[in-house]
This record gives sequence, structure tokens and C-alpha cells, in this order.
Amino acid sequence: MLKQYVEEIELLLKEDKPIKKAWELALNNLDFPIDKGVNKFLEILSDHENLFFSRNPYHNQYHLAQTVYSVGYLAKQENIKLNPDAFLLLMAATFHDADHLGRTNKVELELEKRSAYFFVQWWKNNSLFLDCFLNKKDINFDQCMDVISDLILATDFNTLSSVVMSYNNHKYFEYKTLPIYKLKQLLIEADSMMMVLPYYSLDKSRKILKETNLNLNDYQLWNFIQNFLNDFGKKTFCSDASKKLELPKLIIELEHYIKNNLNKYGNIETFNNKEFEKDLLEYFKIE
Ligand SMILES: [Zn+2]
Repeated sequence: MLKQYVEEIELLLKEDKPIKKAWELALNNLDFPIDKGVNKFLEILSDHENLFFSRNPYHNQYHLAQTVYSVGYLAKQENIKLNPDAFLLLMAATFHDADHLGRTNKVELELEKRSAYFFVQWWKNNSLFLDCFLNKKDINFDQCMDVISDLILATDFNTLSSVVMSYNNHKYFEYKTLPIYKLKQLLIEADSMMMVLPYYSLDKSRKILKETNLNLNDYQLWNFIQNFLNDFGKKTFCSDASKKLELPKLIIELEHYIKNNLNKYGNIETFNNKEFEKDLLEYFKIE
């Protein structure tokens, strides 16, 4: 079931304006017709695209595009309709790392607040256009702004476990008629989805470590990924959408694969990453 996901992610990685493309793919997946109004909206987003991201190894336009596309993909599995729930998700995904300086430590909370602040300013500055687009789609302007800010704040690394807990306890609860806990859960899963997939986890982890200035060789990096999968992956991917896509199973499989095979390719000094990666990708190949 992940085949379409991986194929479309590959498309995104080749785009000059990946965020716009991610929106188009997501809207398509959600069976939402791209009419004139939607097209105009996408044009504005794409004109502003370089305002939303930083030029960091990991937290750049491709991360945003992947998050936008992934959240639409997960929303589809949960049968979430675009009007307005998935729209809010796509917006929150677009802005969730705005102004992100690529630091994943104690200043993170402050940064997430800044993303929400940046989003609110953008939303207000573009209100004239957005209002007419949203009214047509029966979406309430002020309610949207509040909910999207709330969703952006949910992607803060320090609050992830409480988001997961809230999803497990209240997934059917609606806030202002929106399934708010479900939306938050899908967004945090989309934000880290690439990190837990065998096809991308090494590349993504490398980039994150580059941003945090932590130097690990490939052997250490795979150990880092294994710990990450065990700690974060197993706890976080609990939505019905993830289960439908068999992501929890895949995360455990990848974790076990690394644990059982890493030392067959050498030790911390002699590790042959090329061979290890080739065999791993072969093992997890999507038919
Ligand atoms: Zn992110």
C-alpha cells in the first residue's frame, strides 16, 4: 500500500516548487477538484513558498512538501474529507516549520510558537483572498486560523507524547465540529513518516544530525535509527491510518532488521555501509 506513497515522494524530490506539487498530489488523492479558486490559492502558496522554509539540510522545502503530501495520504486512509478538515491539515503541514532554524533542542518550543505566529501573520495578510476562497468552500475564516495554529503547536517535539495520549483517549471527540485529536495525530505522524521508512531513514537521519552538528559514522547512525524506531516510532504511529498502512509493523520489522544484521557487516571501525544498505533496501523492497 506504500507503493503510491513512495512513487509520489520520488516525484516531489525532483520538483523546483515541491510544496505546490505536494498540494496538487494531496488534493488529487483526496478527490478534491482543482478549480479556478483552488488554482489561484495554490499560485499564492507557491509564490510565497520560500517564506515557509529555511535552507537547512533537513528542515527545508522538501521536508515541508513531504509532510503536506504525507498528511493528505494519511487523511485519506482515515476517510477525512477535504472540507474543511484535510484543508486545515495541509495548511498546518505547510507552515509547521516556518522559521525553523533546524535546532531540535530546548529552543524548539519557542520555534514552534514562532511557526504558529508566522502562520497567523501570513493568514491575516492574505485574508482578502483567503476569505473569498474559504467562504466558497463553507470554511469559517477565524475558526480555521485558531485550529491551524493549534495543529502547528502539536508538532512541537516536547508535546508529542501528550498528542499520542490524547488521540488514544479522544479520537472521536470533536472540537468546533472538527475531529481535532485525530488531526493532530495525523500531522505528527506525517511530520516523521520519512524517518521511519526503510527507504529514507538513513538519509533523513544524516541530515538531521548535520543540522544538530552531531558527528556519527554510519554504524553509529544505524544504532541511532534503531533506538529512534524503538523509542519514538513504536509509540507515535498509532493512528488507524498508520495501522491500515501497516506502518507499526514495518517500524518493528526495520528495528529488528537493524538489530539482527548490523554486526554482520563489520563493527564501528570496519562497517561496510554500502553492502548493508543495499541488502536492507532489497529486503524491504516494495513489490
Ligand atoms: Zn517538521
